Amino acid sequence: MQKVSRTVPAPADLGLAGVIGVPEGSSVQMGLRLESVMEGVLVTGISRASAVGECVRCLEPLERELNARFQELFSYPDADGRGRPVAEPGDDAEEDEDRYFLEDDLFDLEPLLRDAVVLALPSQPVCREDCLGLCPQCGVSLNEDPDHHHDAVDIRWAALQGLVATDQADEKDNVNGAAEPGVDEKQEK
Ligand SMILES: [Zn+2]
Ligand SMILES: [Zn+2]
Repeated sequence: MQKVSRTVPAPADLGLAGVIGVPEGSSVQMGLRLESVMEGVLVTGISRASAVGECVRCLEPLERELNARFQELFSYPDADGRGRPVAEPGDDAEEDEDRYFLEDDLFDLEPLLRDAVVLALPSQPVCREDCLGLCPQCGVSLNEDPDHHHDAVDIRWAALQGLVATDQADEKDNVNGAAEPGVDEKQEK
């Protein structure tokens, strides 16, 4: 068993495209435990990095410390002449496709790192759990101005009043009343 620590530059496109990810070239700390087992080398690791993205509600930049864990067996190539059984009967081909192999005593951690990072990142990152987001009408940050509102609320209220008036005028036919908002929407910008 060996323990290995490395700091490597992040490869391109590490993370969730367009949402949050580790900037290319930034440091990724890798802590690895390599264990020799019958079939190959079992690699257990954790990678630490900083991911940057933006809040899905308020679009402010955010940064997350990332701890991504992974474990994978890297098998010796089947044709390595070590005299072990190549494939046991009953091994199905699908399983084989997901296997990782040592190549010239090296293993490629990048696919593992990518999968682990994607799993460790939030798909809907928010700057804080109670982020209020943006005003849907003008885009102002509601975090900075929680009392922000528009007179448009009054327009909607007026529309509701119109419904009430319609319902009162024709209580037996709410379907016609429900069609009214379409007319009122045109009053909004
Ligand atoms: Zn936010
Ligand atoms: Zn607004």
